[in-house]
Amino acid sequence: MEPVYPKRNCDTLVNMRFPVLLLAVLPVFAQSVPATVLAELVTANHILANEGVLDGYGHVSVRSPANPGHYFLARASAPGLITAADIVEYDLDSNPISNTAATGYTERFIHGEIYRSRPDVHSVVHCHCSEVIPFADTSVPLRPMHHMGFFIGPGVPVFEIRKSGGTDMLVRTPALGKALAASLGGKSAALMRGHGAVIAATSLHLVVGMSYYLNLNARLQYQAMQLGGKITFLDAGEASKSAQDYERSWDYWKSRLPK
Ligand code: MN
Repeated sequence: MEPVYPKRNCDTLVNMRFPVLLLAVLPVFAQSVPATVLAELVTANHILANEGVLDGYGHVSVRSPANPGHYFLARASAPGLITAADIVEYDLDSNPISNTAATGYTERFIHGEIYRSRPDVHSVVHCHCSEVIPFADTSVPLRPMHHMGFFIGPGVPVFEIRKSGGTDMLVRTPALGKALAASLGGKSAALMRGHGAVIAATSLHLVVGMSYYLNLNARLQYQAMQLGGKITFLDAGEASKSAQDYERSWDYWKSRLPK
């Protein structure tokens, strides 16, 4: 495994005129974190961008394997351009523990508050996936169209941020993050009216797959509705029996990343 994270630090140090000053702003995580965790998070960012789930906006995080009260999320930047040096460790209040000089995502509270309310969740994606927006903005519920969308079976709630007062639509406070986490409840995904979606899963690979197939399911459901006939969705038993880990898709998407 290529030691991506340490190598970048060394490269940066060599290129800096004042390496001692730089040491103060280098990410130093609270606990020793395997390089593979950071490398996987970077790969997840790149896959989600490469597959069109995220564009310049949106983010993906992973709970710290060393401390369940912390999580890792990139500093505010485009997911497709993120490197290991951009990763910040946060506590569940979404205060930075490492890399504290980096500008964080405005909506990082989405991640902190979901991790706080869902001990089973180890990875979170927030996307502006365009195909889900019609289902976020109308009364038509998203329902499982195909076996790859099994996690949609229990339902996909819609978060109405207007209930929290007049906002600029962004989840920019802990209170809004808590309201979103409450809307999500125990589900795998929630749509955000006028905005996008949040997806929560037990692993990074799973959350990446769910994010991709959530968007695809929305596209398929819209197409089926255009056809105009009766739609037969997966029933609860079919959805639950279709559960899978998307590992083959992860390998394929990883192979498609620009070298
Ligand atoms: Mn957003």
